[in-house]
Amino acid sequence: MDIEKRIREIASELFSFLKEEKPSFFDKSGWKGKVVEWSMRDESFKVQLLRFIDVLPALKRDEVALRVFREYLDEAESAPSVLRQGADAFARVPAWISAPIIRTSVRSLARLFIAGANPKDAWASLDALRREGASLSVDLLGEAVVSDVEARRYAERYMELLNFLAPRFPVPENDTSRRDRLDISLKISSFYSQMEPLNWEGSIEKTTRALLPVLEKAQALGASVTFDMEHSYFKDLIIAIFKNVLSEFKGFPRGGIALQAYLKDTKKDLMELVEWAKEHKQRIAIRLVKGAYWDHETVVNRQKGWPVPVFLNKEETDRNYETLTEVLLKNAEFVYPAIATHNIRSISNALAMAEELSLPPDDFEFQALYGMADPVRRALKRMAVQNPVRVYCPIGELIPGMAYLVRRILENTSNESFFRKSFAEDIPLEELIQSPKPPHKKEEGPREGFSNEATTDFSHAENRRKIKEALAAVKKEFGKEYPLSLGKQEVFTEKKILSINPARPDEIVGRVSTAAKEEAEQAIEAAKKAQRSWGETPADERAAYLFKAAAEMRKRKFLLTALEVYETGKTIMEADSDVAEAVDYLEYYGRQMIELSKPRRLGRYPGEINEYIYEPKGIGVVISPWNFPLAIPTGMASAAIVSGNCAIIKPSGLSPVIAWQLMDIFKTVGLPPGVLQYLPGPGAEVGEFLVSHPEIDFIAFTGSKEVGLRIAKRAAETLPGQRNVKRVVAEMGGKNAIIIDDSADLDEAVKGVLESALGYQGQKCSACSRLIVLPDAYKEFSERLTEAMKSIVIGPPEEPSTFMGPLIDQGALKKVGGYREKGKQEGKTLLLREAGGEGYYLGPALFEVGPDASIAQEEIFGPVLSLMRAKDIDEAIAIANGTEYALTGGIYSRSPANIEKAKKEFRVGNLYINRKITGALVGRQPFGGSGMSGVGSKAGGPDYLPQFMNPKTVSENTMRKGVAPEREE
Ligand code: NAD
Repeated sequence: MDIEKRIREIASELFSFLKEEKPSFFDKSGWKGKVVEWSMRDESFKVQLLRFIDVLPALKRDEVALRVFREYLDEAESAPSVLRQGADAFARVPAWISAPIIRTSVRSLARLFIAGANPKDAWASLDALRREGASLSVDLLGEAVVSDVEARRYAERYMELLNFLAPRFPVPENDTSRRDRLDISLKISSFYSQMEPLNWEGSIEKTTRALLPVLEKAQALGASVTFDMEHSYFKDLIIAIFKNVLSEFKGFPRGGIALQAYLKDTKKDLMELVEWAKEHKQRIAIRLVKGAYWDHETVVNRQKGWPVPVFLNKEETDRNYETLTEVLLKNAEFVYPAIATHNIRSISNALAMAEELSLPPDDFEFQALYGMADPVRRALKRMAVQNPVRVYCPIGELIPGMAYLVRRILENTSNESFFRKSFAEDIPLEELIQSPKPPHKKEEGPREGFSNEATTDFSHAENRRKIKEALAAVKKEFGKEYPLSLGKQEVFTEKKILSINPARPDEIVGRVSTAAKEEAEQAIEAAKKAQRSWGETPADERAAYLFKAAAEMRKRKFLLTALEVYETGKTIMEADSDVAEAVDYLEYYGRQMIELSKPRRLGRYPGEINEYIYEPKGIGVVISPWNFPLAIPTGMASAAIVSGNCAIIKPSGLSPVIAWQLMDIFKTVGLPPGVLQYLPGPGAEVGEFLVSHPEIDFIAFTGSKEVGLRIAKRAAETLPGQRNVKRVVAEMGGKNAIIIDDSADLDEAVKGVLESALGYQGQKCSACSRLIVLPDAYKEFSERLTEAMKSIVIGPPEEPSTFMGPLIDQGALKKVGGYREKGKQEGKTLLLREAGGEGYYLGPALFEVGPDASIAQEEIFGPVLSLMRAKDIDEAIAIANGTEYALTGGIYSRSPANIEKAKKEFRVGNLYINRKITGALVGRQPFGGSGMSGVGSKAGGPDYLPQFMNPKTVSENTMRKGVAPEREE
């Protein structure tokens, strides 16, 4: 029989029953239905509504809840007037009356989709469903798990859930029918707070360990277990954990996993799981869903420059869903299909397919979500469909519940929602049940213009293999000698800088020749020779060298990353980001120079042409630190040379081998000799000599405040014969603060603070070292953060499990250690973690102090955090602004008014809202501060290159003998 015809027949019949089962969510007679209707009509209202729902449970005090409610309503320009009037009336009522009304309303909206706050609370709803013949899968909603304690607590909650529910579900004798069996759904990443695909084996091992007790208990109580699917970044890892768990725990016969039809990869994953089940003779359940994180997948992957893993068009997902259903049903002997959808067309497709395959009803089931399942369940019942229908029932408190509620509202009100089309719009049946027809795809061509270099996606096995090989290859080169690069020559000098591995100080990464004054003079001579013809080289040719260098850098990406890991103690991911940033500078400044080289016509007056052009300054010194050992020297050096100057790099003595790689890359792409030279040596000698030299026209420096100020002073002194006043571009230190207000999302705040404060052990100029927290958030935030700081892994940076590696050297260890001692005296110690090992390891520390404590004022450059209280947002901003630095800063807040205030009053160069404060991207977040944090325009921004050039105005009188050309363009 024609299967398409049969699908439509079934769908029409099902639909006729479904129509009579309108969910209360769409019932316009009640207030919920009205709110839903408004939000479907008006996107801006919907966004504000969802945002308010998201923040509400975090608002502890009634006045704050009411204030934030008004702020959101004010932002929703077209909020329905009834609501506005209501809100105005609310404003006249004391907050203790109005705020609870708002809370109760949102709670009752949540109760549409969440079965209860805890198992006991949910039991009445679950039992009612069961009595009506539904099967159940129960899921515990949870906050993001940021520490071991929280992960353990999540597992315990499942044990409690099983203890409570399983006895209420008698174990069916006949194992082939899953109908009466309780199923629990698990969010796998909540079982191990440090789960990360880069740490593949470690994550599998640790997560499996954490899951086993729950699985054993489920087994003993006769329940089945389904692994929920999360963001695509975790997908392969979750599948691997699933297989590992089933292999280790052979007695566990009822494991299942969810797969998402919106992912382009899912067919391959499904086929592999079918093969796995055949091979292991273990029938696994597969829950086929469409996928709930579409926005996240499209936004986050685009932000990272990674391919978008989901189908962009809903019809493609629907089509894929049908294809996958077919694969599942045809393999029902090996896998147990759970068709989890509310879409009548998708359900009918499964039914028609099963009919054709003559599959008995117990061989597969349907699933639907609590709060949305009833129409589907009842329609199937009225059609006498015999398959089990399982209702997915989330249980949880309000805070974690809100994220879930927001997803459900979004899903139901989206233009593509089957329910919306069925219940809220009069879409003809024919249209609703037609076969999904994906549109013709327009191939996305390569993007023009600048876009950021993508960091490496370590969820791919191939990338994990490549970094492992690169680490081994770099290790083989340990101890190699590196020369200076002077003009055409490579010069080996007697005196060497020993570059050591801070994780194992007895390992010498490289022996690097050291320059003295003599070599510095030679370098200046070579630069003088090269400068003229280089300055006259057309800008696009100069830029082309940068583009070639970028391509060469991409080729060496894994090796450069591995080298950074060994030479500077960066973790793999931190090093990988540094390499990507270096590529960005080359691509960005190259393009910018091409633009700047076009003469700009100023004014439009007859008889004259005024042009604005740039000329190179001459010869410059690039003095770089060790903490972004490739990106910073690449940025400063490429900006200097692409502007037509010659530059001498004086890298930090702690990262000279990576800087040598930069030199080598430019040599490989054929940069003319003398344009860029490499001159490592002691800062106080060769660095200072270059800075003071009369032939030097500019200095690009990044490093500490002390050295930066010294350079500024030395550069200001003019010597006889000097032709230029030196330009100094200096990026210096920071003492950066993050404010956590009383509306902050603490899941996000804890994660963001961890990365900002402890990423690269706190050795970033942008690192967070001060936390300013408002009273309502203080206790919970400080407790969660302390636990999270205890849970991160400290170890050798080449290990994929490591979050924090060693400090850069013995001096840093001593200095930061000194601040830990000071912290103990100046305030209350909340955490002082030790970290032994042969390298320069130091655990993180957290102190509660006053804003004037020295540890809250001085740049520390290590993992020492000051925590401070502020009574309100004004005081918080005043404390944040109360240092001599002004580099980066951040605020975690969901109050529109507080965010606005921070935008206006927080005095920093880079302000970050609801995200980490490190990791500025070239072209997207140009970087640099003011105050004692630096002088000059932002790196990676539109004003950077002109600092290395002299602007020139050329004005030509085009009128001769009273005649002017008619028209001048
Ligand atoms: P540092 O100031 O000790 O050294 C920076 C560079 O200056 C090195 O190459 C060093 O050899 C050289 N140098 C030292 N004394 C000199 C002198 N008298 N004359 C000329 N050159 C001299 O800094 P570091 O320890 O390498 O780096 C950490 C510092 O850098 C921190 O303070 C950090 O905040 C800052 N930093 C700032 C930014 C930014 O963009 N604002 C970025 C990264 C690092």
